[in-house]
Amino acid sequence: MKISDLIGAIEDAAPRALQESYDNSGLQLGDCGRACTGALLTVDVTPAVVNEAIECGCNLIISHHPLLFNGLKRITGSTDVEVSVALALKHDITIYSAHTSIDSAPGGISWTMSSMLGLKNAKVLEPAAGKMSKLVTYVPVSHAQSVRQAMFDAGAGHIGNYDSCSYNIEGSGTFRALNGANPFVGDLNRIHVENETRIEVIVPDWKTRDVEQALLAAHPYEEPAYEFLSIANPCKSIGLGCVGDLEQPLAATDFVDLVKSTFGVPVARCTNVVNSGRLIKRVGLCGGSGSSMIRSAVGAGADAYITSDTSYHNFVDMADRLLIVDIGHHESESCSKAIFYRIITEKFPNFAVRYAHTDYNPINYV
Ligand SMILES: [Zn+2]
Repeated sequence: MKISDLIGAIEDAAPRALQESYDNSGLQLGDCGRACTGALLTVDVTPAVVNEAIECGCNLIISHHPLLFNGLKRITGSTDVEVSVALALKHDITIYSAHTSIDSAPGGISWTMSSMLGLKNAKVLEPAAGKMSKLVTYVPVSHAQSVRQAMFDAGAGHIGNYDSCSYNIEGSGTFRALNGANPFVGDLNRIHVENETRIEVIVPDWKTRDVEQALLAAHPYEEPAYEFLSIANPCKSIGLGCVGDLEQPLAATDFVDLVKSTFGVPVARCTNVVNSGRLIKRVGLCGGSGSSMIRSAVGAGADAYITSDTSYHNFVDMADRLLIVDIGHHESESCSKAIFYRIITEKFPNFAVRYAHTDYNPINYV
């Protein structure tokens, strides 16, 4: 099995097109064409993790945080990132990172956190917008069904819990085939009128090339007419954060205990609400630095919001309004390793994949 096969599995579940504009998810360094000798899963890439990969014979490291985030102007071994890059290159280790791509993907970090807590009716807290196009094409009526089906099979026409979604209307198309053309219907140098179906389907950005190729392969015309139109609609199944409901309301202190035991955190920073005796029913959450979505959690009716890297001023602003439960950055994203593990072993059940023992939480509670 090639390294590219494993990366393909990760990108099928978390396409790079889902990442935020500031991010650097994707291949960090190395060759994807080599046979994979084992995959090591980690939140962060450090020299210790690269050394562990060397020692355990894994030539692929899959991390949540990108090794290369701010760019490198020199590789002299003066930082851990530079040391990691040099070590990995020297030992032919490939490094791939899925950061905000796995944050936003269905089944990604926030979805996993929400299922760990047993939340019901979970939905995306901030659905992603601008990640889809509308494809419009014009097909002879006789071929509308086969072209439509080819586009569906390639990933078009999927909206929420529905597939095979399209809009179709019949009309007349005209064209004149000039010298050198090989028209499917009509004669050279004579205007032809053909009954055509205008088909409209939704296409996610990461399926654009697949759907385009399927359309071109199935369409009978020598020069099919089609256009991709960008649409701003939010896509409900992808985006950052989740919000859902506890099966039974819990007192704030009991809820915080549940959060601590679920995510294995020794201590959580909480707003005043923890001592209010208030019941917690609806819960928002976002793995990693999710303080920018506190207002969205309030807007979604959340009684509590679990995230990390919240500031003093977040606590002041929300003191008695929202139970913020800050569980720490590494703690909230540690489940990324289990997500990578699930994705790989579901597709390649017998493949050597392991968690990095040297991946650790750099923040100590003293
Ligand atoms: Zn993070």
